[in-house]
Amino acid sequence: MSVELAGHDPDCLFCKIVARKIPSKTVFEDEEFYAFHDIHPWAPVHFLVIPKQHIASMAHIGPEHAGLMGRMMALIPKLAQQEGCNPYPDGGFRLLTNTGAEGGQEVHHLHFHVMGGPRPWLRG
Ligand code: AMP
Ligand code: ZN
Repeated sequence: MSVELAGHDPDCLFCKIVARKIPSKTVFEDEEFYAFHDIHPWAPVHFLVIPKQHIASMAHIGPEHAGLMGRMMALIPKLAQQEGCNPYPDGGFRLLTNTGAEGGQEVHHLHFHVMGGPRPWLRG
């Protein structure tokens, strides 16, 4: 029997990735966040940034998450540059989060897609 960490959902795909029960290609990790390459990239650069804590979606975000969300937003441009997105304004990146079924969300653990690199892209 395994002991699950507080804030993790044992049935969640991205919680399993954080716990290294499912392999992923790491982009960044600290105490609060994990970033990894999307398994089906749309663009030359395509990675996902997630809080390690299980939060199902943006619909679950409230004022108590302001600090966490602020730190995640501040991390993203740094990682985009590190992963090879070209500099703004000719380069840049797309930041996307799908929320709920009608928002196109497939994995119900909050994640931000970061996409960039030279066009054309596979999608978008
Ligand atoms: P969505 O919930 O619609 O924002 O999409 C979930 C994203 O997770 C998709 O872009 C998938 O390609 C990606 N994905 C699903 N499983 C994995 C995995 N095991 N490793 C990396 N990315 C994944
Ligand atoms: Zn989760």
